[in-house]
Amino acid sequence: MFTTSWWNREPSLKSCLFHLMKISAPLMCSMEPCPGLPYLSVICNLRRTLHKSSKSKAFPFTSTTMAELEAEELAKHASQTIGRLLCTDSRDYVFKQEEQVPISQLVGKTVGLYFSALWCPPCVKFTPRLVTVYQQLKEKNEDFEIVFISIDRDETGYVECYQSMPWLSLPYGDETAKTLLRYFHVQGIPTLIIIGPDGKTVTREGRNLINLHLEMAYPFTEAQLSLLQDRLDEEAKNYPNSVHHIGHRHILNLVSASSGGGPFICCECDEQGSGWAYQCIECGYEIHLKCVRESEKDGFNEKQLRTVIPACACSSGY
Ligand SMILES: [Zn+2]
Ligand SMILES: [Zn+2]
Repeated sequence: MFTTSWWNREPSLKSCLFHLMKISAPLMCSMEPCPGLPYLSVICNLRRTLHKSSKSKAFPFTSTTMAELEAEELAKHASQTIGRLLCTDSRDYVFKQEEQVPISQLVGKTVGLYFSALWCPPCVKFTPRLVTVYQQLKEKNEDFEIVFISIDRDETGYVECYQSMPWLSLPYGDETAKTLLRYFHVQGIPTLIIIGPDGKTVTREGRNLINLHLEMAYPFTEAQLSLLQDRLDEEAKNYPNSVHHIGHRHILNLVSASSGGGPFICCECDEQGSGWAYQCIECGYEIHLKCVRESEKDGFNEKQLRTVIPACACSSGY
């Protein structure tokens, strides 16, 4: 058990946690009291293992026990299939509104497991974007499907939430939802986990990939993401090194993952981003490249956009 004095003795860890929580807090509804903690080194590994496994099986928490549990977890994921993820002994279907759809119909498809709820504002905001992407992929006849895993607190919330979704759903209250939360270590919603045609997990970052690339993210594989990254690198060459964006009063500088960029929350659209961005490092203001363009479309003067104003002396925000 860690105490307040431990916390105060570890300023670097405190700062790191603050950063993690700052990134995740506005974007996700937490499923646990502290969403950042489990990703940190030793504490994290222990907690993650405990989270995914039966806590009684983990006792007495020796390195051998933990290694055995990790191996068990890896074996489970290695033998994962869409049927094993979604079927139970008494149910081999999911719903499409009122209609039962056999889970066998999902075999061989790319499937998104969408953890969401009506009470979660970021979910309510993300769902319409996902609906648009889903419909675009359907129009292209891609073998793509989504299954809604409800984290709603009551059935009324579930029914209202599902009304906005054109895809499949686990029955409300099904135990599988809890099993999947533990299995995929879901700590916040919305979360979109992508399962490949072979039944194995492709990525847990479906939501971020949709935000960054929309339907172009499909099928979410490393090869596709590498192609998209190359395209972004190429496109970035056409952007000015500095801009004065309508949403911020200081100059924003073009940065990439290798030149000061990194995961960020876009101050224009409130969604997560990574890689190329426009940044005012002193204010911590950062936006997607596409969001600068969106402001241009909204009537921002092209001349103003490229006008370099005196160096950012900001300490007072934006
Ligand atoms: Zn943005
Ligand atoms: Zn600034």
